[in-house]
Amino acid sequence: MKRMMMILIILMAFSIIQASEKAPLKVFVSVDMEGIWGVVHSDQTSADSRDYSYARKWMAEDVNAVVEGLLEAGATEVVVNDSHGSMRNILPQDFHPKASLISGSPKPLSMMQGIDGSFAACIFVGYHAKAGTTSSVLDHTISGSAMKSIKINGLELPELGINGAIAGYFKVPVIMLSGDAETCRQAKTILGSEIVTADVKEGLGRFAARLLPADEARRRLKEGAKQALLKRDKIAPFMLNPPLNFELEFQTSAQAEMPALLPQVKRTGPRTVTFTANDYLEGFKLMRAIIALASAT
Ligand SMILES: [Zn+2]
Repeated sequence: MKRMMMILIILMAFSIIQASEKAPLKVFVSVDMEGIWGVVHSDQTSADSRDYSYARKWMAEDVNAVVEGLLEAGATEVVVNDSHGSMRNILPQDFHPKASLISGSPKPLSMMQGIDGSFAACIFVGYHAKAGTTSSVLDHTISGSAMKSIKINGLELPELGINGAIAGYFKVPVIMLSGDAETCRQAKTILGSEIVTADVKEGLGRFAARLLPADEARRRLKEGAKQALLKRDKIAPFMLNPPLNFELEFQTSAQAEMPALLPQVKRTGPRTVTFTANDYLEGFKLMRAIIALASAT
């Protein structure tokens, strides 16, 4: 009888320990630089420019505020992928000590490296509007020098849509985005009105913006992340269904010449090529290789 009691007590203690361990709640964050608070010009976002050392700190501060909000909302693991240029912008010593940083480039999934089906949600920080947007800081799509537009199944997409569809491929919803006001509007149009947005500046042109007071910007980032994670079940993943037709328009006719040599790729105009993919990740990777070829021209 005494032995039975002992076994019962051990079993009860074990179940209490198990219940107190949190179920995993993983969040993936991709952080770009053009939509970071404070940034208004490429003199701040390129590694050899004068103000870059400040901009990389603002980038860490924006993303740290998001991490803080996620942890308060119950996230058990936050993985942040540095997604701009060299992808070595955030210095580890400036980065939130409770989150994990993916640093460096190239990476197979580029701005989305690290995501998979184990994540409950995805967040875009410091994102920017698509190429050809009025009054939006540093608008471009993947490559400012090479790309005029990227359409998938006829829909012109900014990076937030192209990357959002990678999250969607893994059935992960994009629950929040930060950037300038126009980028936030594009996020709601493409990813759905339920997404939480934090606009940290109002674009006045391609190289000018009115910044929110720093404290208010970081408050919006932290609160936004917290609210977004709490309502994640209300936000649907952004999925693009195959077959997927990619249409890439370059800035110059010369940039279409090398991509057109690939057997899967058709040249449909002086500056335009298309191809079809049955798997979004395969299509995304071919698109990246094509943009690299065009950029080398
Ligand atoms: Zn960028």
